Amino acid sequence: MNYEIYEPYGELGAKVIQNEKSLKWIAQADIRIGFLKSFKEKKNKGKPVYGECVKVNELYAPFCPYDFLIVFYEMNILGLSDAQLYVLMYHELLHIGLNEKDGEPVYRIVPHDIEEFREIADRYGLDWERPGNSPPKGIAKGGG
Ligand SMILES: [Zn+2]
Repeated sequence: MNYEIYEPYGELGAKVIQNEKSLKWIAQADIRIGFLKSFKEKKNKGKPVYGECVKVNELYAPFCPYDFLIVFYEMNILGLSDAQLYVLMYHELLHIGLNEKDGEPVYRIVPHDIEEFREIADRYGLDWERPGNSPPKGIAKGGG
C-alpha cells in the first residue's frame, strides 16, 4: 500500500490545532482530517515533497469520512526533528480552508505565495526545514 493511516500524526495534528491560535477554528468547525503516511519518494519540480494537504474530492466524499487528508512522505522527512515535524504539520494545516455557500460548508485548499505561509515565515523563517535548523523554543518536543 502506498498510503496508510498513521495515528501518531493524528495526535500531532490535534496538538498543533490546539496550540496554534490561527488553527483554533478547525476544531470549532468540526473539520474532519485524515492523517496518513506514505513511503513514496514524492517529488515536485525535482524537490522532495515533505507533506501535503489534499481536499477530499466531492465525488469520493460519500465514501470517505474526511474533508481533508494530510500526508507525510516518510522517505523525505527522515532528517527532520520533532520540532520540524511540528512546523510541517502546522504548514499543512494552514492549507485547510472553509467557505460557506447557501449555508453549506465549501472546503478549499488555501494557497501560499513565497512557498510559505506568513505565520510560519515570521516565526520560524523560510528555511525551518533545513536539517539542523531548529524552530525556536516554545515548541514541545516528543509525541506527548
Ligand atoms: Zn504548502
